[in-house]
Amino acid sequence: MSKGFTISKLNEYSWAIHERYFMMDSFMYLLEGRDVNLLIDTGYGLKDLGPLVRSFGDKPLWVVNTHGHFDHIGGNREFQEIFIHQEEKSILEHHRSQKYLMGLSREMLPSLFRILAWSFFRRVFTPQGRARWTGRHHYIDEHQVFDLGDRLIEVIFTPGHTLGSICLLDKEAGILYAGDTICDTGILLNLEFSAEPEVFLSSLEGLKERAEDFNQIASGHRQYNLNPDYVQRYMDCIRGFLDGSIPAETVKEKGQTIRFIEYDAIRIQLPREKKRRRRLSKAPSAGSPPEGSPPEGSPPGGPPEGTDR
Ligand SMILES: [Zn+2]
Ligand SMILES: [Zn+2]
Repeated sequence: MSKGFTISKLNEYSWAIHERYFMMDSFMYLLEGRDVNLLIDTGYGLKDLGPLVRSFGDKPLWVVNTHGHFDHIGGNREFQEIFIHQEEKSILEHHRSQKYLMGLSREMLPSLFRILAWSFFRRVFTPQGRARWTGRHHYIDEHQVFDLGDRLIEVIFTPGHTLGSICLLDKEAGILYAGDTICDTGILLNLEFSAEPEVFLSSLEGLKERAEDFNQIASGHRQYNLNPDYVQRYMDCIRGFLDGSIPAETVKEKGQTIRFIEYDAIRIQLPREKKRRRRLSKAPSAGSPPEGSPPEGSPPGGPPEGTDR
């Protein structure tokens, strides 16, 4: 349907948008509403996503980022009304910077892809190395509900992979949009702003309480039709680690020691044992939107419930 993306239909109003280059893979989701369309995540942003999203009609569009990692916010530059949890502010600022992305491409990409990536950077960054974003960023409430006119999409706060990760629940369709909170390949809790395993367990328990409301998990990577039993499997894995029945293992990768637990064909990468975390409190003043964004305001079509802050 559109160069660089593959579209799959989940139901009569929900679409998975698959972005894939080389070893990179991400899923975004477009939910068509009567009054507003909702786009969940914007991928790596290497190709322009706007034309594809606009082909679903000229209704107002809200973008919701499940978290602030570069592979979920890359296309934010093309959109005007963007919602993200406040705890993601530091990650968002870091992962939208040219310096961070150039470092990452140097580390991960073969030389041919690096040349392509750097010509892309020249296009999307200012000479000061900031992503050219013009949209407004709104902080979402942990119990926010996005009203699309004929259906409600509910935020479920699920800190773990990052401190401000969220899932989105379309109860009517029985689909949980999980970002990187539930993936078939494993969960990373070893990143700079990941939460402790106990916190992630509590998020999983929250999802389990809502188990009757979804029969499909649409993940941020690789799969959009995961079995909901992944929630229980990750819960069992973490509980086993916390009670000592599943021991942590270690492996050396690229000179770094990775600590992980494995159970029932899933893997969770753990924080380093004595990891000193950068505190979010060192981030620029809480409560203000990310740098470069105009003040918050009501998005077109009226604000979703709970956004008036
Ligand atoms: Zn992530
Ligand atoms: Zn991701």
